[in-house]
Amino acid sequence: MAVVYDEARKKKLRDEIYLKNRILVEGLAFDPGIFKNLDLGGKFIEYVNVMFAPDKHAHKSVEFPGCFLTPLGNYRTQIRWNQNSPVSLVYEDGQFNIRDNGKTVLEKIGFARRPDYYQRTTSDGTSMRTVAADNGHGSMFVSYSNECSLKDKGLDCLFCNINATKSIYGEAQGITWKTPRQIGETAAAGYREGFDHITISGGFISERREVEYYIDAAEAIQEYTGLEDFNGTGVIGAPLDFDIFAKYKEAGFKTIATNIEIWDEKMFDVICPGKSQICGGKKHWLAALEEEVKVFGKHRVRSTMVAGIEPKESLLEGLTCLIEQGILANPSQWNVNVGSPLEGHRTPVQDWHWEVFEKTVTLYRRQGVTWDELHDANAQNDYVHFDLFRLEEGVELK
Ligand code: SF4
Repeated sequence: MAVVYDEARKKKLRDEIYLKNRILVEGLAFDPGIFKNLDLGGKFIEYVNVMFAPDKHAHKSVEFPGCFLTPLGNYRTQIRWNQNSPVSLVYEDGQFNIRDNGKTVLEKIGFARRPDYYQRTTSDGTSMRTVAADNGHGSMFVSYSNECSLKDKGLDCLFCNINATKSIYGEAQGITWKTPRQIGETAAAGYREGFDHITISGGFISERREVEYYIDAAEAIQEYTGLEDFNGTGVIGAPLDFDIFAKYKEAGFKTIATNIEIWDEKMFDVICPGKSQICGGKKHWLAALEEEVKVFGKHRVRSTMVAGIEPKESLLEGLTCLIEQGILANPSQWNVNVGSPLEGHRTPVQDWHWEVFEKTVTLYRRQGVTWDELHDANAQNDYVHFDLFRLEEGVELK
């Protein structure tokens, strides 16, 4: 049942989400040594760099928490280390606080609990924390490969740091390619403790054999969880042959994601050269998404867009067009991470992003999108627009 907030509480929660948005845009400055005061890797979850490192600086020898929780709304806020940020995370008087330009703005923040499966290993001795990340709100995230072959051709997307993440953290955190069996066993361990959604993603592999890999992974998840419907999302590039969408569905994936990233066609060609040249260009991506809706159904297809590279009008046009077609377009705040080809650039200011998020929520609500649909189709449900959506819809999580 939807929660009805009184206006004063709703405003406070909204202000907290607004601040969260600022923290995500600016990142957090802190001394990595403060985490010795936290039971990280014990009671609280650490960030495992399975695909994209979220920080501006590398920190191979020390692990950070995955996120912090805001005091009022418990909003999960990803920790993005930026030593030049005006916003800082400090440990003082036995508690963690957030300061903005030196002034305390959040006191006694919390941290997310570490799931039990993070301390377990698969039958071949692989640490489960490297197989599937806990992305919050019941979602597990598997990156079957932690590299993208587009880099070898000089065609990797300019905002992406998957290959840099591998070279910084692959060996340090023991992250490699996953076998279907490792995925199946890890999914089963997670689902036993309450997780209810799993995304399978990864970089491009040179022979474009994703479909076979995903089918094997789906079969393993079904075998080890005992669930025919395991509520899975397969994230794939636009294939040349659209007949394979049905194969993903038959394999048991409930939802599918094909990330268009950039709406403006000319910018798409420049920012995503591999997606443009190898997968038939933007028009082909749009045709693929349209076909996916026919196979999987309305609100069972997701497309993530990088918010902050192209002009806002163009991004909003893309979000509107896709959402009106029944596709759950998802503006992902551009965060310029360590090792990305655009390292040194910065994302737009906080209010630029805030406007995009508010408009996205309006579009979702206008089309009757539900929280369950967003949960089932997205790899991560703790972005700002999802918090805003939950607040507007009165959705409280367990
Ligand atoms: S296709 Fe682009 S976004 Fe995806 S992993 Fe490769 S370089 Fe990164």
